[in-house]
Amino acid sequence: MGKTSPSVAELKEGIARGDRGSLSRAITLAESRLPEDQEHAQDLIADLLPETGRAIRVGITGVPGAGKSTTIEALGLKLIREGHRVAVLVVDPTSARTGGSILGDKTRMHKLSAEENAYIRPSPSGGVLGGVARKTREAMLLCEAAGFDVIIVESVGVGQSEAELAEMVDCLMLLLVPGAGDELQGIKRGIMELADLIVVNKADGDRVPLAKRARGDYRHALRMLPPSTVGWETPVQIASATEGTGLDEVWESVEKHRAHLEETGQLDERRRRQTERWLDSMIEEAVLAAVHRRSGVEEAISQARADVDAEKITVPQATQKVLEAAGLGTSAAS
Ligand code: GDP
Repeated sequence: MGKTSPSVAELKEGIARGDRGSLSRAITLAESRLPEDQEHAQDLIADLLPETGRAIRVGITGVPGAGKSTTIEALGLKLIREGHRVAVLVVDPTSARTGGSILGDKTRMHKLSAEENAYIRPSPSGGVLGGVARKTREAMLLCEAAGFDVIIVESVGVGQSEAELAEMVDCLMLLLVPGAGDELQGIKRGIMELADLIVVNKADGDRVPLAKRARGDYRHALRMLPPSTVGWETPVQIASATEGTGLDEVWESVEKHRAHLEETGQLDERRRRQTERWLDSMIEEAVLAAVHRRSGVEEAISQARADVDAEKITVPQATQKVLEAAGLGTSAAS
């Protein structure tokens, strides 16, 4: 942290007050790649950990254009009216891969972001996908410590990311739109299996009959899949984020699902799994960073790239050389 930055103690105090500025600074620290920032962030998270875990953690996924931000804004405003404090974390896996973002500069959820009791944070760009997930987990904990009791994690549905999202939240909502033709086209079975709740959005105007038909098709398809949550029949509902219809029922399902998790002991189990995944990704990142810091490793990587490009050695051989440079080579593999 720079000289003018608040100390860990100041940030902790700000977060405990629910101050959004302190929360933002803390999340920025957790996202930073500077070792001293990381150290401060981890101290802060360790201090705040007893204040975390009480929120309801909901993931929302769906293809771009499905209406995720419109739905989150409508749901968020409703929840705030009911006395909740709502934090929204937007995970955009494309930003990890390309450094750019398919969300672009689109102004999203501006009504919700104007609310005192809302907090909206886009995912960090750059870095590895696992890193984005780890940072999102930490941002979630910091939001909980700041008194947000509903955490919504939005993820752009691009295939791989749903499993990661499912492991971060208590309830995964899949948002779909009614389309012409085969409703199941393009929806991967795996994503349906992970969903705790399916919402067919844009059920308004002349799309209502189509949405109802889609609901029937998805219900039918779900019967052939194992349940996402033991003892839970994944509901399929229709809603319109722009008209606000069906959203009360959607949130009722989220709460019912949560109650089911608590009653069956599965909430503790999910939370344990979430913590394990956090640990795994943290270890992976830390080990990788430590290896990169060893002297000679960066040079060995450059050399390995050049040798592979020049077809002097194979990729497995080049990898072995990098491991040896890091002092991690094994005689068995060499
Ligand atoms: P996201 O990419 O999944 O976040 O989708 P957006 O929330 O940005 O919505 C994409 C487009 O669909 C926008 O033009 C929205 O106004 C529109 N949209 C979202 N929800 C609804 C809905 O329930 N009904 C209708 N008719 N349009 C919607």
